[in-house]
Amino acid sequence: MVVTVFGSINMDLVVRTPRFPGISEIITGYEFFTAPGGKGANQAVATARLGIHTQMIGRVGNDIYGQELCNHLEDAGIDISAVNIDPKASSGVAIISVDDAAENCIIIVPGANGQVTQVDVDRFKDKLTQTKVLLLQLEIPLEATIAAARLGQQIGVTVILDPAPACDLPNELYSMLDIITPNEVEASQLVGFPVQTIEDAERAADVLLNSGVSTAIIKMGALGVFYATRKDNSPNARKYFPAYKVNAIDTVAAGDAFNGGLAAALIEGHSLSEAVRWGAAAGALSTTKQGAQPSMPCRREFETFLQEHNAQSC
Ligand code: ADP
Repeated sequence: MVVTVFGSINMDLVVRTPRFPGISEIITGYEFFTAPGGKGANQAVATARLGIHTQMIGRVGNDIYGQELCNHLEDAGIDISAVNIDPKASSGVAIISVDDAAENCIIIVPGANGQVTQVDVDRFKDKLTQTKVLLLQLEIPLEATIAAARLGQQIGVTVILDPAPACDLPNELYSMLDIITPNEVEASQLVGFPVQTIEDAERAADVLLNSGVSTAIIKMGALGVFYATRKDNSPNARKYFPAYKVNAIDTVAAGDAFNGGLAAALIEGHSLSEAVRWGAAAGALSTTKQGAQPSMPCRREFETFLQEHNAQSC
């Protein structure tokens, strides 16, 4: 069984600098590195590291970053036969400057990610027929995401949308989704009130269920997760799951790790509550390492973590 990720593939270009330059000013920074990113690619790496057969659908540019991004995905064991090289656009990049006060300035250029359309969905329709779980995010044009969700629903795939970055969604999309997984900020944007406490998250989940989605999972960082589902009448239908206690050093892409763990558990036939536990474990483990994709846990450390934390079940 396969997880398909339809979404963004980015290269982060990171500069460390003592301070930010003013207009027309040139200053000297002291470090530069590139790091593969993009929420789609991050989630694909997350499931592949957990040993799940993963295929990626998306676009990169016809430039050195595009080639590097493809190599990186392939090295992670991801099937990239449905990643297109866009002949006209650059690869998607995030130009990130970090100063000595750890403040950052970020410019994102969607490049090839911004060129993904329904055509990419139609072209790779056959890829979805072997898919059990389809992972979507919002870093490619919304119309393309909607087309993928619609097709996923028609085929009977479990469609999971991570509504990140935060934006308003058309009503028609909710009923195409099995699971939506906003963090607090994204949930606030979707429901129109602040989501800061577990009680807020429960209210937000109910609003999302009423919008037509089958299951709402609200990710709340170190506070944990609240989920509610319409698919189950048992006490497991709505629950708060506290975060695992870990020594968190970098929370970048914790949400992507969560979705990877969630999808992996569903692929392996686990219940929703167990899948939330897997998501929370993958999210927690990812915060113990630096970076986005390098912090995604591999299967062995993930299983050890789950065994060590067996008592904390959902
Ligand atoms: P996002 O990256 O989308 O903002 P979160 O920060 O909510 O997502 O992280 C996703 C999940 O990862 C959380 O719901 C939680 O289970 C886990 N997680 C995140 N931060 C921590 C942390 N500091 N300690 C333990 N678990 C965490």
